[in-house]
Amino acid sequence: MYDFEIERISRIIKENNYRMVGLQFPEGIKDHAVRVADEISSMTGCLVVISSDPCYGSCDLADEEMKNIGCDGLFHFGHSQILKNTSIPVYYIEINLRSNILKLIEENLHLFPARIGLVSTVQHINILAEVKEFLVSKGFEVHIGKAGGRVKYPGQVLGCSFTTATDIADKVDCFLYIGSGNFHPLGVCLATKKPTLALDPILGEVRKLDEFKEKILRQRYVRIAKAKDANTFGIIIGEKRGQMRVQLALKLKKKLEEKGKRAYLISLREITPEHLISFRKLDALVNTACPRIAIDDAARYQQPMLTPFEVEVLLGEESWEDYRIDQIG
Ligand code: SF4
Repeated sequence: MYDFEIERISRIIKENNYRMVGLQFPEGIKDHAVRVADEISSMTGCLVVISSDPCYGSCDLADEEMKNIGCDGLFHFGHSQILKNTSIPVYYIEINLRSNILKLIEENLHLFPARIGLVSTVQHINILAEVKEFLVSKGFEVHIGKAGGRVKYPGQVLGCSFTTATDIADKVDCFLYIGSGNFHPLGVCLATKKPTLALDPILGEVRKLDEFKEKILRQRYVRIAKAKDANTFGIIIGEKRGQMRVQLALKLKKKLEEKGKRAYLISLREITPEHLISFRKLDALVNTACPRIAIDDAARYQQPMLTPFEVEVLLGEESWEDYRIDQIG
């Protein structure tokens, strides 16, 4: 199912005479790491080190760690490039999935309005052009937003960037997200305020995001309400390079203190309730690291964990009606 591009990796290793390389996998495919390492070392004779720290995006490269171990290069799987400067060469093995979804689209054409924006994660980005051509042939107007910032491909969305959708929002009636999971289409929906359909090539289904969006918004409203009487806040700074937003954390601390609150800056790599247990007596947390954390993991925290925008709503500087999803860059 997955193409780990072993031939390409072997060629890079041989061409550069690498003696030891690092491999970094996202959580969902780490089970394949040992087999991939076996194949690479048997084809090249190169030593292979597998990074086992949790990894959720290319905002979090293990290049420093692998350099310290003595690796000549790092192969990062499952994501496209975000960080520009690295301490050793980093090669991205994006793992595009090939899926035949045109039949599924055809069966669901009745759900689509006249003008559609297409978005996807890197795994399915290679199919967007084909989907566009198909929809145009059926009489729809189709738009794909351009790449830029931390987004490498036209139409690509990350859990922390929906600019390819917001850029074309005024030209479309609805977005069609191609990929798995609810978070990315939720982000598209919240960032653009447009109806969003999610087509999941693995599950073979098309679903509307409206109900899920309403459920998440209700949860966020409750969290802000719970934080209304909070006096002490822990402002989380993510230590992963591409998630670190120190200036934002400092700005939020200042805003909270100006309203008579006490705010503490807390930095960590892996943001989990277990790692934050020592701060359980703080009334509320604010997340400036990966935007997914405050939404996806909300139920795991005793205290309300707010996004930067939600702090501004709490302080009366922004309106709930203008709800914005947190994005980086
Ligand atoms: S910040 Fe979060 S959503 Fe963005 S790339 Fe990193 S892990 Fe993914």
